[in-house]
Amino acid sequence: MVKAILSLVFLLFTLNSYGSKVVHLKEFSILSLSPDVDNLIFTFDRVDRYRFIKLSENYWYIAIPKKIISINTPLTPKGNVRRILVRIIKGETRIFFRMEKGFKYHFRIVLSKNHHFLVIRIKRESLKGYKKAPSRLAVGGERLKRKVKPVIVIDPGHGGKDPGAIGLFGLKEKNITLSIGRYVAYYLKRDGYRVVLTRNSDTYPTLADRVRLANRANAAIFVSIHVNYTPKEKRKARGLEVYFLNTTSDKRALRLAARENGMSLSQISDLNKIIISLIQTTKIHYSKILASDIYRYMLVYGKEVYRAYTGRGVKQAPFYVLVGTRCPSVLIETGFINNPSDAIFLRNKRFRMAIAKGIARGIEQFLKKSELSYLPLDRSLKS
Ligand SMILES: [Zn+2]
Repeated sequence: MVKAILSLVFLLFTLNSYGSKVVHLKEFSILSLSPDVDNLIFTFDRVDRYRFIKLSENYWYIAIPKKIISINTPLTPKGNVRRILVRIIKGETRIFFRMEKGFKYHFRIVLSKNHHFLVIRIKRESLKGYKKAPSRLAVGGERLKRKVKPVIVIDPGHGGKDPGAIGLFGLKEKNITLSIGRYVAYYLKRDGYRVVLTRNSDTYPTLADRVRLANRANAAIFVSIHVNYTPKEKRKARGLEVYFLNTTSDKRALRLAARENGMSLSQISDLNKIIISLIQTTKIHYSKILASDIYRYMLVYGKEVYRAYTGRGVKQAPFYVLVGTRCPSVLIETGFINNPSDAIFLRNKRFRMAIAKGIARGIEQFLKKSELSYLPLDRSLKS
């Protein structure tokens, strides 16, 4: 008898929770990871099924079948989302999304393992012939290229009141990085790429300024250029190092990444996992590839001038500029300013041009390979 009552109570309880017609949408955010990719993240109390209906190329809605969604969070449009509307139709709540016009949208939908998160990844594609590339991309009077080239941000380290490392022959890091950065920009522009330098003279943008500039420019790639220095083993240490961001399990790094993506800390704590998988895992993955491409080409071109130029490897470190940016980002330590052999060549314009060419080739190689198809979203969520 007790058993029967217990099972009845249990049955009522399950009926009550599963039979409830209200689903709570606790949080909603849009992460725009590039001008062409938006991730819409819905955080429900629990959701097992959803309905996704595409009404037209730029109009669609999402609903939980036969349920009312109680919305406890602001629904603010962002990125390629123009408007968000909520309507109750046929006993269910439908959340309508109107997208930017004149594009084609590809949708990919993922329900998280624990059934709290629903992520819709939307990728924008130009309708054929709709969007013409700006005329500044015309190369040598050629016809306009249809595809708009990505923006590459080159960041010559230090500058102004911050000289960076000071080495042999009175060399200052800030001057070497600016010189190399300008050459990289020159080679990339010559090949038709859009390049933004974080500084083009002896000025002092803060690290935050550099990150902000990269994100505002919707950078597809961020490359920071530096020169190494070591107080120890002065003569021994020499050669190239290329860094990409390491893990962001570190709270400070995560907070910074959140701020740069316009999210609050409370959203961060709740969406912690998703954000890591969406932004950082993908970014780290691509940054690592970018780092090895640049590393390889820098050695090839560098050795043409400086035969004994050596590589110390592709490494990981939580540099500030690598955390805040939203695109694959690397930091290059071109050589050691206090090593006699490295310093002689860093002072040499031909060598600086050679490694700049290597950096440009590495970037181009990476872009060709990745075709900017960042964000293998469902893969990163499953792992
Ligand atoms: Zn530096």
